[in-house]
Amino acid sequence: MKITDPAFGLSFEVFPPRNLNASFKLWRTIEQLATLDPSFVSVTYGAGGSTRDVSRAAVDVINREYGMDVAGHLTCVDATREQVMDVAQAYKDAGARQIVALRGDPSDADAGFQPTADGFQSSLELISALADTGDFKVRVAAYPHTHPEAANENADIDMLKAKFDAGAHSAITQFFFESDDFLRFRDKCVTAGITQKIIPGILPVENWKKTKSFSARCGAFTPDWLDKAFENATNQEEHDLLSISICTELCDDLLNEGVEDLHFYTLNDPSLTKTVCHALGRTPSELRLHKVA
Ligand code: FAD
Repeated sequence: MKITDPAFGLSFEVFPPRNLNASFKLWRTIEQLATLDPSFVSVTYGAGGSTRDVSRAAVDVINREYGMDVAGHLTCVDATREQVMDVAQAYKDAGARQIVALRGDPSDADAGFQPTADGFQSSLELISALADTGDFKVRVAAYPHTHPEAANENADIDMLKAKFDAGAHSAITQFFFESDDFLRFRDKCVTAGITQKIIPGILPVENWKKTKSFSARCGAFTPDWLDKAFENATNQEEHDLLSISICTELCDDLLNEGVEDLHFYTLNDPSLTKTVCHALGRTPSELRLHKVA
């Protein structure tokens, strides 16, 4: 492992709280991670728009109380164009200048995406409509292991290119555990003519069993060696140590390969993310005024 420059661009994903206890957890996460000087924090949007109001409220509080740049996630599921654009306007009113624009998954994932009558037919239409407002930096999703619904890897990269052509500013990837997977994907995107930034999504593993089952659903790949390593962790302390060292190594490799920004999936728990950032040299005393371009 080399020593990396701690001035990399940093961002965090959180999800909106469902109850009072979860709210305290979210605010603790924001408070602790704010000291690491993130470029932005993104707030997810529940399947089928199930967290519409609370996502907007979380965007508002994070922006207003913590003065942070916030990206609200937005999907096309179960809503007309007008309803979706109303949420975008509500995000804007809450201070968001960025949106992560997604097609989304229905609440019943097995049913597959069915566009709503008068709704956006695909992520491309949503990206285009948001870009046309001129109000937002539009970020989109990318899949180093190929989206499960893609016809093949090339078609998936073509879709990503189409998202940029529709007005996207940058992409954030699904999580992955081996740097080569991201680097190969980045090379293929460059070959396909994509010049915009692709930010790796980093998941510090809190619970390997849950991560494996979620990975199977969203098409992320979990390598066998990692499976064996976590099986050998006999208690939570060993599990956390393993998780921190694997994640730090992954981030370090990426930064040494010219990656400029890391986006952490925090799952509203700051501890692993904070420790990994500290291991990468990013501590409150090392604050740099580095913002994602
Ligand atoms: P798209 O990229 O539009 O479609 C997925 C894939 O299907 C494409 O890559 C392509 O291969 C194929 N495809 C779809 N339409 C076409 C077409 N017209 N022509 C050719 N190929 C096509 N979900 C939520 O519900 N809420 C969230 O807040 C949320 N945040 C996320 C954040 C990130 C960074 C990521 C990576 C995912 C997130 N998701 C979220 C999950 C996401 O909604 C699902 O992965 C969903 O299945 C795809 O959304 P998308 O915008 O990537 O879709």
